[in-house]
Amino acid sequence: DAKASGKNTYAFFDEKINEKIVRKMKIQNSMKDAIKNNEFMLYYQPQYYISTGRIKGFEALLRWNSSQHGFVSPSEFIGIAETSGLIIPLGYWVLNEACSFIKRVIDMGYEDVSISVNVSVIQLMQDDFVENVNNVLRQYGLKPSNLQLEITESILMENIDFNLKRIRELRRLGVGLSLDDFGKGYSSLTYLRDLPIDILKIDKTFIDNILESNEKSCLTGNIITLAHDLGLSVVAEGVEEEEQLKYLKCYNCDMVQGYLFSKPLPR
Ligand code: C2E
Ligand code: MG
Ligand code: MG
Ligand code: MG
Repeated sequence: DAKASGKNTYAFFDEKINEKIVRKMKIQNSMKDAIKNNEFMLYYQPQYYISTGRIKGFEALLRWNSSQHGFVSPSEFIGIAETSGLIIPLGYWVLNEACSFIKRVIDMGYEDVSISVNVSVIQLMQDDFVENVNNVLRQYGLKPSNLQLEITESILMENIDFNLKRIRELRRLGVGLSLDDFGKGYSSLTYLRDLPIDILKIDKTFIDNILESNEKSCLTGNIITLAHDLGLSVVAEGVEEEEQLKYLKCYNCDMVQGYLFSKPLPR
């Protein structure tokens, strides 16, 4: 009867939630030793200037091949690393590894390339974050302009007043700052104007939209124009089709990144 099936439905959901919690706990536990056991790797995806076709730099993207769980996606483990605090040591591991990579690229003769590193707001909130970034740059003999930090829009905006202070400190240091996944969140344009960033990364959704309808495509074009009016450069992320690139050129988008050019690759 209805009552019995209702109870079953409830039990079913309960079990699903339980499974998720157990998986999270297992992931969290195995992450503790994963750095030490060299289970993490960085992959690098090139970013190009549209106008010249020249390489601007690379984005470092974390990959985890866990001895217990196999490949785990960053969209799953980054959140767990944030809530457990493991993102702090993991984030410094990433920063170090990424800087060592770009140092090697520079030494091969590419002068003005940059490495983009994704930074969680949890890392940004650490009192010694700016100092540590500075130390890593000096350790590898890099210019601040060789490092570009990417911060996700929606999360940055949640605690904007505090984060703004830290962003300004990083800006003073001279590293580049990108607002990642732009358009997925809901930035107030006022804050966008006040943020001392230099690059806006348009979320893949808006790149996919280009081929969907004229209206949606125009919206993407307008975001690029708006960013330029604010003095920002624009990176289109997740470019997969030649046709998207054609439109992005038309809209004067500055840089592109995506499977059309290259997937993220190991060093
Ligand atoms: P994100 O920073 O926005 O990175 C872009 C994501 O899009 C990456 O996914 C990349 O592999 C993927 N991508 C690039 N081009 C294409 C394309 O043409 N098509 C498609 N379908 N996807 C494309 P990934 O590597 O799975 O990373 C997901 C998210 O995890 C990242 O989004 C970033 O927010 C986070 N993440 C990755 N590495 C790190 C890290 O070292 N630290 C932190 N805090 N977060 C990281
Ligand atoms: Mg990113
Ligand atoms: Mg992004
Ligand atoms: Mg993303």
